[in-house]
Amino acid sequence: MLIVQKYGGTSVGNVERIKAVAERVVRTANEGNSVVVIVSAMSGETDKLIGLANQISQNPSEREMDLLLSSGERVTSALTAMAIEALGRKAIALTGRQAGIITDTVHTKAKIEKISGDRIRKALDEGYVVVIAGFQGVTEGESEVTTLGRGGSDLSAVAIASGINADVCEIYTDVDGVYTTDPNIVSEARKLSKISYEEMLELASLGAKVLQTRSVEFAMKHGVPVVVRSSFNDNPGTLVTKEDVDMEKVVVSGVAYDKNQAKITVMGVPDKPGIAAKLFKGIADANIVVDMIVQNVSSDSKATDISFTVPKTDNKKALKMTEDMARELGAKGVTLREDTAKISIVGVGMRTHSGVAAKMFETLAGHSVNIMMISTSEIKVSCVIDAKYTELAVRVLHDAFGLEA
Ligand code: ADP
Ligand code: ASP
Ligand code: MG
Repeated sequence: MLIVQKYGGTSVGNVERIKAVAERVVRTANEGNSVVVIVSAMSGETDKLIGLANQISQNPSEREMDLLLSSGERVTSALTAMAIEALGRKAIALTGRQAGIITDTVHTKAKIEKISGDRIRKALDEGYVVVIAGFQGVTEGESEVTTLGRGGSDLSAVAIASGINADVCEIYTDVDGVYTTDPNIVSEARKLSKISYEEMLELASLGAKVLQTRSVEFAMKHGVPVVVRSSFNDNPGTLVTKEDVDMEKVVVSGVAYDKNQAKITVMGVPDKPGIAAKLFKGIADANIVVDMIVQNVSSDSKATDISFTVPKTDNKKALKMTEDMARELGAKGVTLREDTAKISIVGVGMRTHSGVAAKMFETLAGHSVNIMMISTSEIKVSCVIDAKYTELAVRVLHDAFGLEA
C-alpha cells in the first residue's frame, strides 16, 4: 500500500517523540508499504515564532512571516528523516518547494493549486521514506514561500495523498480519533468509529481543531480516505468517509466550540440598499472570512445595527477596515467584542428531525447562558455566547443530546 502519515505538533514535540514517530514509520515501511510522512513543527514552535515577530513589529510583513513560520516544519522534517535513517531505513526530507507544492500568492493562508508528485514518486521508487515539511508551499514562478493557515499540515497531508494517489491518509495526533466533542473538555466524550466528510467539515469549521477545515474540504472533494489516530498508542482511530444510511439516524453527532471568533458591531447604519454589500465587499477584499452576520432594523428608525464575526487573528485588520467603512457610510460607531465563543451542534440527522434548535436554546437558557447571535444550516446550529461559559455550554449540550459514552 501507499500510505501517507501526518504527525502533528505534539507527536513530534521533542526528540523522544520524533524517535517514536520514526519507529512507527519504519514499522509501516517494513510491512511492505511505501510511506510518505508529513510533519508539523514541534508543538508550540509556530506560536513561538509568531511571538518573536510580534516583539519586533506590530504589523510584520506577511511575506516575511511565511518565511519565518515555514522554518518550524523544516526542522522536524530533517530530524524525522535522520531518526528514520538511524533505524536503518533510507529517508529523505523535503521542503514544500522540493516536494512540488505550488500555491496561490495569498501569504499566511495560501491555497494549494497543484502538486507535482514527480520527486516524491521518484524517491519512493528508489526505496526512500519521504518526509515532507507540512504547512508550506511556494508560488509558481517567483517561488515565494507561503504557508497554508494554522493547522495547515493536515491540508499538506491530504493534498499530497490525493496528488500521489495514496491508499490512505493517516492523521496522527494526541487523541485517539474524532470524538463527539473535544475529549480534553468533556471526559465523557465518545470516540466515533467513522464520521461523514460533511459532518467533519462542519465540526472542523466550527472549531474542532482535530482536523483543519480546508483539509476536510479537500478530502471530501477528492475522495481521500482519512483516518485520525493517536501517535501515542495503536488504538483504531476514526475513519472520515462518505455518508451512509446509518449516519442519518443520529440527530446530533457532535458539539464544537470556537473561541477564536471576535464580534464586530456597526451601530446606526443607514437602512438603505447597498450598505451591507459595500461593507462586506471591503472585508472580503482584505481576505478576511466573515462567519455569522446579524442585521437588526428597529421599526421606529431609519438605521440598523449590523453585527458579524471574524477570526480573532484578523480582528485588528477587520476593525480598522470596518471603522473606515463606517465613517464612509455615515454609521454611528463600531464596537469590537473579543470575549465571545461560538458553540455549535452538528449532525446530518438534523435534516430529518425537528426541534433540535429549540432544544439547544432551552438547554443553554436552563443554565442562564445568554445567546448573542444564532445561525443555522441544514446540519448545524451555532450560537455565539460569552466566552466564559464555553466549557459549561459544551458539557450541558453534550449531555442534553445524549452523546456520552
Ligand atoms: P495536532 O498538533 O496533532 O495537529 P491539534 O491540537 O491540532 O493536533 O488537534 C488535536 C486536538 O483537537 C485534541 O487534542 C483535542 O483537544 C482537539 N479537539 C477538538 N475537538 C475534538 C473532537 N471532536 N475530537 C477530537 N479532538 C478534538
Ligand atoms: N505548525 C503549524 C501550526 O501550528 C501547522 C500545523 O501544525 O499543522 O499551525
Ligand atoms: Mg492540528
